[in-house]
Amino acid sequence: MKIIQIPLLRDNYGYLLVCEKTNQAAVVDPSEAEPVLRRVEQEKLELVAILNTHHHRDHTGGNEGLLARLRLKVYGHKSDKARVFGMTDGVDEGDAIQIGEMKGGVFFIPGHTTGHVAYLFENNLFCGDTLFTAGCGRLFEGTPEQMQSSLKKLGALPGDTKVYCGHEYTESNLRFAMSVEAKNPQLVARFERVQGLRTRGLSTVPSTLEEEKLTNPFLRWDSKEIQASVTSAVPGTRLDPASIFGAVRKMKDAF
Ligand SMILES: [Zn+2]
Ligand SMILES: [Zn+2]
Repeated sequence: MKIIQIPLLRDNYGYLLVCEKTNQAAVVDPSEAEPVLRRVEQEKLELVAILNTHHHRDHTGGNEGLLARLRLKVYGHKSDKARVFGMTDGVDEGDAIQIGEMKGGVFFIPGHTTGHVAYLFENNLFCGDTLFTAGCGRLFEGTPEQMQSSLKKLGALPGDTKVYCGHEYTESNLRFAMSVEAKNPQLVARFERVQGLRTRGLSTVPSTLEEEKLTNPFLRWDSKEIQASVTSAVPGTRLDPASIFGAVRKMKDAF
């Protein structure tokens, strides 16, 4: 399969997943329709589906424009039928999806919103605004417990899983990560690498899950340095994973 990253709006990414055997394609999180349609035309693809990770407008804003032009299946979490424009196929944890000859799976990962899902095709994970490169989404509708368990679920995938998230936020996420775990050598190296890429205007997405587990503060509730940062910022924080995660998330919100 082939993956085409499409920069949308200010810092969103949509993705075309292309079945190279049939030329059929799906688009993940079309913030807007026109750039997606242009790319589909350029690549001479047959767009057959929209895969929405969650209902936010910057991930679904293009649904209407695409459906005005093409007949498409629209996937999203089954609880979000009223909030995802044009949804035809409500999905849930463990469901299978087929696009051309590509087979994918669904993870239910609430926390950023109550109806957030991720899609996994081979080792490519499309995780919207739940797991970001070097960060995670804000808790708009869920609890720290929900988000931490969603992140734990994604973190259990193999280390070579590629992380295709919904935004180009890596550099600012790493700036925060450095404020809570500056002694992590892998983090320091990643920060330098990412600054180099951004200086040249290049994308820092995808990363790998292995890289995230080594440097993403929202997956590192076991890190002694992060635990120390949390207890010095919020004395008395309990040191269970959900409490540590919740405290780091609050620190990031205020960063
Ligand atoms: Zn969102
Ligand atoms: Zn978003």
